[in-house]
Order: sequence, then C-alpha cells, then structure tokens
Amino acid sequence: MKVYAAYYNENTVRQQSSSGGIFSAIAISILKDNGVVYGVAMTKDCYSAEYIRVEKEDELKLLRGSKYLQAKVGDTYRDVEGDLKNGKMVLFSGTGCQINGLKKFLNVKYDNLVCVDVICHGVPSPNLWKQYALYQEKNREKLVAVDFRCKDTGWKSFGMKENEIYIPKEDSFYMQVFLKNYCLRPSCYKCKAKKEKYSDITIADFWGIDKILPEMFDDNGTSLVIVRTEKGESIWKKIEANLYAKEATYEEGVRNNVAEYSSAKKPKKRERFYVDLNNMNFNKFKKKYGASWGVRQKRKLKKFLQFFGGGIQSILYILRF
Ligand SMILES: Cc1cc2nc3c(=O)[nH]c(=O)nc-3n(C[C@H](O)[C@H](O)[C@H](O)COP(=O)(O)OP(=O)(O)OC[C@H]3O[C@@H](n4cnc5c(N)ncnc54)[C@H](O)[C@@H]3O)c2cc1C
Ligand code: SF4
Repeated sequence: MKVYAAYYNENTVRQQSSSGGIFSAIAISILKDNGVVYGVAMTKDCYSAEYIRVEKEDELKLLRGSKYLQAKVGDTYRDVEGDLKNGKMVLFSGTGCQINGLKKFLNVKYDNLVCVDVICHGVPSPNLWKQYALYQEKNREKLVAVDFRCKDTGWKSFGMKENEIYIPKEDSFYMQVFLKNYCLRPSCYKCKAKKEKYSDITIADFWGIDKILPEMFDDNGTSLVIVRTEKGESIWKKIEANLYAKEATYEEGVRNNVAEYSSAKKPKKRERFYVDLNNMNFNKFKKKYGASWGVRQKRKLKKFLQFFGGGIQSILYILRF
C-alpha cells in the first residue's frame, strides 16, 4: 500500500472537484486508453443521484463532486459486465460497498477493470434529499444545479451551492444532519466495506494536510490517495506527471479521517429522525434537527468580530497617517 497527498494540476477541474481532483485525473487517463468510466451524477431534475456511463472527457463534469445521497445503481453492474466482456477498459468509481457489490456480482477477476472508491462515512437516504429539495424549491425556485462541496470560500470551509445560492455548511440544514450522522443508511453504522476493501485506489480528502505537509496545502483541495494494488500502482504511474504529489504514511493520511477504518457512530436521534421525516411538516422537522441555536449564535458572533476587527484595523491604519 502506498499513500500520497496529491492534487491535479488542472485548476478548473480541481475547483469543480470535492478534493484534489484525483478522480478526474484517473478517469481522463482511462478515457485516453479508449476506456469507459462509471460514476455518480445527479439526475436532470436534481431529485436523486444515479450511476451513469461516460465515454467522453467533457461528460466527466457530471461525475465530478460528491453527491451526498445514496445513488441508484439500477442495471449498472450488468452494463459494466457487458463492457468488460467486450474487452473495454472500465473504471468503476463509487463507495466501498458499491465496489464490493460489483465484485461479488461479477464473480470473475477482470484485468481490464479498475475500481476507485471514496472514503465514505455514509450516505443519506434519497427520500430525505428529495423532500429537502422540494422544500427548498417551495421557498425559492426550481433546483437546476447543486454542489454539495462548493469551494467558493475554500476547501476547508466548504458550503453547499443550490443554483447560484451559496450556503455555508454551518447554516445548511442538509449538511448539518449529514455531518451529525442523523440521516445515514442503517448499513453505514456497521459498514463491512471498512474491512473488506476490493478497490485498486482509494481517494478522499487529506484533512489535516496544512499541519502534516503544509507545502501541499493551498485551500483549493488536497486528496488523500491510497494505492492498494499493482493495477492501482500502474494507474498511479500513468497520472503522476499530471499531479502535484508527495508520499505520506498511512497513519498521516488517516489521522484526521477515521471513516477510512471505522463506521460512523449511530446517534440516539437516528431512529426518531426518520419517523419525524415521514410524519412532521418539513419546516418543523428542519427546525428540530437543523443547526442548533448555539452554533447559529457562534457564527453570528464570528461575523460580528470579523467586521468589528476589520473596523479596528482600519482605524489604526488611518491613525498611523
Ligand atoms: C457519500 C460520500 C461520503 C464521503 N465521505 C467522506 C469522508 O468521510 N471522508 C473523506 O475524506 N472523503 C469522503 N468522501 C469523498 C470525498 O468527498 C471526495 O469525493 C473524494 O475525495 C474524491 O474527490 P476528487 O476531488 O478526487 O474527485 P471528485 O470529482 O470530487 O469525485 C467524484 C467521485 O465521487 C463519486 N461519487 C460522487 N457522489 C457519489 C455517491 N453518492 N455515491 C458514490 N460515489 C459518488 C463519483 O462517482 C466520482 O468517482 C465522501 C464521498 C461521498 C460521495
Ligand atoms: S459507509 Fe459503508 S455502507 Fe455506508 S455507503 Fe459508505 S461504504 Fe457503503
């Protein structure tokens, strides 16, 4: 196993990606070899996420970025099998459990299959996302684009972008219930994919990189890359020239990323959360589980201090003259 901190040297692609854009670097290399890429995109109506098959580089933008809800697999495993049997090079990307599911479905080892998983602390139910999206639309306009990991204010302080509206993660109901683990699928609290890993490469956020390898941090996104197999190693060698990368230890890579090896703890409120989702008016539901009063006040205070601090600095600056 080799571990790296890395980011893709194409800035636009990196900006559209949740971490350092390593998924795109791998996908482009597979497409250049006449291969196909399977990954997760939002549906056109923005109400769900689904697997799609991509053959052209300009379609990769649909796969870029994390979609924080469980994606529909549909007939994808059968389609992957068809491509593999036709001798196509196939990149399959997704959560660890989706990769394990594919490998068990295929039941045959294919040299032309490359699997890339994301470190995954869990997925919310598609029902929660749809109800949230419908609620947001009632209060605003039809959702035509969603970015769950918008980097407009930086990679570390990411927020959600719904159409053109940026919502800091602290103020986003959806991000809050996701990050507090209220809304994950039952399997995510006892995730078997933490121990059984069948992917060739694992990608994730390299949280803590600013302290571990500060020269790899610029707040535009740095990926953690874990190369697990020889096939993974040969892909890494192909893309390495297009990356900024530094080797790290496994311990450094996962120090701030427990989701690599342990499941999310199930909060006491988890069962009640879904009962309430199905029975409460969404507005009341949102108030019950959204950002706490304390968090909102802390944020307001921070904004106030930033403004006030800026004011003091300006006065001091003027007084100097
Ligand atoms: C549900 C979820 C939970 C995650 N949890 C963590 C975590 O706890 N810690 C961490 O470090 N990283 C986590 N990640 C991974 C991280 O957010 C980035 O996706 C990853 O680092 C890849 O980033 P990138 O910049 O290389 O490429 P990106 O372009 O951001 O990655 C896109 C890749 O994500 C896949 N993808 C997007 N949405 C889904 C989905 N719903 N289901 C399956 N695959 C999907 C696409 O198929 C593609 O392979 C999570 C991702 C998802 C989707
Ligand atoms: S936490 Fe585990 S079970 Fe849940 S989506 Fe991620 S890989 Fe699958």
